[in-house]
Amino acid sequence: MSNEHPHPDHHPHEHRILNPATEEVIATVPAATPGEVAAAVARATAAQRGWAALAPADRARLLRRFAAAVDDHIEELAALEVREAGHPIGNARWEAGNVRDLLDYAAGGAERLSGAQIPVAGGLNVTFHEPLGVVAVIAPWNFPMPIAAWGTAPALAAGNAVVLKPAETTPLTALRLAELALEAGLPEGLFQVLPGAGPVAGAALVEHPGVAKVVFTGSTAVGKEIMAKCAAGVKRVTLELGGKSPNIVFADADLERAAASAPGSFLDNTGQDCCARSRILVQRSVYDRFMELLAPAVTSFAVGDPADPATAMGPLISAAQRERVRSYVPEDAPAAIRGEAPKGKGFWYPATVLEATGPGDRAAVEEIFGPVAVVLPFEDEADAVTLANATDYGLSGSIWTRDVGRAVRVSRAVAAGNLSVNSHSSVRYATPSAATSSPAWAGSWAPTPLPPSPRPRTSSSAPRSD
Ligand code: NAD
Repeated sequence: MSNEHPHPDHHPHEHRILNPATEEVIATVPAATPGEVAAAVARATAAQRGWAALAPADRARLLRRFAAAVDDHIEELAALEVREAGHPIGNARWEAGNVRDLLDYAAGGAERLSGAQIPVAGGLNVTFHEPLGVVAVIAPWNFPMPIAAWGTAPALAAGNAVVLKPAETTPLTALRLAELALEAGLPEGLFQVLPGAGPVAGAALVEHPGVAKVVFTGSTAVGKEIMAKCAAGVKRVTLELGGKSPNIVFADADLERAAASAPGSFLDNTGQDCCARSRILVQRSVYDRFMELLAPAVTSFAVGDPADPATAMGPLISAAQRERVRSYVPEDAPAAIRGEAPKGKGFWYPATVLEATGPGDRAAVEEIFGPVAVVLPFEDEADAVTLANATDYGLSGSIWTRDVGRAVRVSRAVAAGNLSVNSHSSVRYATPSAATSSPAWAGSWAPTPLPPSPRPRTSSSAPRSD
């Protein structure tokens, strides 16, 4: 992805950061060259040796201090996320809190990463978890703060150094996190944030022989390219890619609750969410009733100034992203439900619900990454599973039913890493999930009896879907 915000005096070695709600330039950030990437990897390599030699309890203590520093700066970090990413302030506070919680959680791992003792004849075999060295974390723009932490915190806890390349449009919160890490006492060079262009700085990091592992979150196309390069360099790689997740509503569900919570599941973060439930599958016998209930829930979703605590949905991240959404659905295309969006400056796009023209409908199977959902009717359970699986993706999804047996059957039959029942929450840092790690299981049943999380969220203890 190149710089998404061309500016009259744009310079290839710097990125101008825009507030997506106003289009104002809020910062100019240098873009790293391959030489600067190599220098950062050298610094990280030097810092990692000392870090790995520290007592695990000391690594844990420093990571907890980093978490405390984040906690002391929740408001500042959240305000920065509002300005650079257009996230509503309640969501941004949740995101900063998630970074704090993840650092705290990962800190505990520093002292608990034990190997195994294996019974063998005539001797003793033991395994150790050794750090890899320098880990590259490449983050997307949709959740710049939490996703930076999801890759970084566990890598640091395990004794690695991290060089993080944030997305071109959203480097500011990650840069601030690196400053807080230093203030908290993490060694110089151990956690570096290097803004830059994906194909330049990102590619240089992936290809650098001093990088032992790449953690990438972003588009499937770039993920494939990175995986091929890691294979060529015989490096480890963890990929978190796109989604087109189903929200399956059975006739026996609590329809009022299902309809009331559906907008949040595809409008949260203006739909720029890998786990967005952007395909709503509804059993035909309750289809009309569900649509009647859904319409007011969608049109009353509060869109506007992200700094206003009453706002639930802000703008899209950039002009380029709005063009991408428009390429699927022009704002004047017929829609079953359409909300309002502010006019004038800012990358606004209205909440939109389409009725699928057929199962092959492009908008129904491809990731749009905007506030757009497509509704499809289904006949029975088997039909629902077939439709749910009819995409190239398999990240997340929700099942609404009062029948526990059906919940278990369908969650095992849908090919997705993480499914919620009667809820849309799918990201909890303590639980393996498609969005926070790469478990070797699919269709795990996650009973989620919690009520929908209130807005605005100020604590990351409330689950959410990312
Ligand atoms: P993207 O792939 O364009 O960019 C992601 C990052 O990769 C950016 O930092 C970018 O600069 C960098 N990059 C681009 N080209 C590169 C290259 N050739 N070499 C190395 N790095 C390169 O994705 P995006 O548009 O920023 O993010 C949106 C995508 O991320 C969506 O598809 C979304 O579903 C996915 N996503 C997935 C998860 C998850 O956990 N599964 C979470 C959030 C977002």
